[in-house]
Amino acid sequence: MALQMRVLPVTPFKQNTALLWDDVTAEAVLTDAGGEAERLLAAVADKGLNLQAIWLTHGHLDHAGGVVDLCQKRPVPVLGPHKEDAYLLADLPQITAQYHFPVSPAFKPDRWLADGDVLHVGSHAFKVMHVPGHTPGHIVFYNAEHKLLIAGDVLFRHSIGRTDFPRGNHAQLLEGIRTKLLTLPDNTRVLPGHGPMTTIGEEKQHNPYL
Ligand SMILES: [Zn+2]
Ligand SMILES: [Zn+2]
Repeated sequence: MALQMRVLPVTPFKQNTALLWDDVTAEAVLTDAGGEAERLLAAVADKGLNLQAIWLTHGHLDHAGGVVDLCQKRPVPVLGPHKEDAYLLADLPQITAQYHFPVSPAFKPDRWLADGDVLHVGSHAFKVMHVPGHTPGHIVFYNAEHKLLIAGDVLFRHSIGRTDFPRGNHAQLLEGIRTKLLTLPDNTRVLPGHGPMTTIGEEKQHNPYL
């Protein structure tokens, strides 16, 4: 009875989409379906999984730009981000065109998420934590049983999220990382939105921004 994960980098920004699944029930979730919907659905089919939902950490184009395309091919509920990121999802047509991504329509998720919400992949629970600063509505997903954190663009290996966007807030981001993420067990595995995986212990010791 295990929670499984395969990381699928998508878009020119190499955004880490996670395919998470319960290997007993074959129920699966995709996080941050930023693009390349066909490839993501092929990975789901390849393992014979039953896709249940898309979870979004925040509204940036490389994390949310493939959602409408994917849902047209395979209708599933979209959960998250926090509603403070609604303006980013509303801006997707302009921003995807500006960055020469396939143009995404604007959309609203089926459900906005808030701090303390709990989501499931089969029998495995993930707690939602609101960690604003990179964007105002950024959330992360934490599974305590397997000590796995889907961190989006909050925390990277030896780095942290950019806060130089409109509505970015560096002090708020640091506060959220310190109080909500660095308090997790040191051996928590962290999947950032970009780049290699890390652990909470590694970042406590060697992240120059913390
Ligand atoms: Zn971002
Ligand atoms: Zn990103």
